[in-house]
Amino acid sequence: MNCPDCGHERTRVIDTESSDDGSSVRRRRECQRCSFRFTTYERPEWDSLQVKKRDGAIEPFDRAKLRAGIDRAVEKRDVPETTVTELVEEIEATIQARDTRIVSSTFVGELVSEQLRDVDKVAYIRFVSVYKAFSEPEEFLRELDAVLDAELDNFEPAAPDDDPPNS
Ligand SMILES: [Zn+2]
Repeated sequence: MNCPDCGHERTRVIDTESSDDGSSVRRRRECQRCSFRFTTYERPEWDSLQVKKRDGAIEPFDRAKLRAGIDRAVEKRDVPETTVTELVEEIEATIQARDTRIVSSTFVGELVSEQLRDVDKVAYIRFVSVYKAFSEPEEFLRELDAVLDAELDNFEPAAPDDDPPNS
């Protein structure tokens, strides 16, 4: 790493520090010629998409695993296989289009639930109950209520009758 000030190629590391999540390393450097000090950041560059799990472990993105999760949610529901395939492709494309090669499993979970919500409400509820791992039954019921409320919002009420027959 050349000195950004004078271009000298010899710099000395004076301090090294890991970021809180351990995904990058910050180094303070000092030029051995002009003593200019600067900071560099190092982070691994992944060639393929990686998923960071809730426990911090990082593993390669696995399309089959994503599909298995969705398959479980739509089991015995009236959701065609082609729809599931499209879902998986759309989710993968969304993740691949991001600048970063690493996504959190939570982000993937949000994407899947967003999509499933439009496809099948039961599948959606099944999916979020697994991936959100609700700690309280109340949390689960709140999620269920939110879905039911959305359903009611979509319900078109009959036009009000100006002249009710029984008046
Ligand atoms: Zn320098």
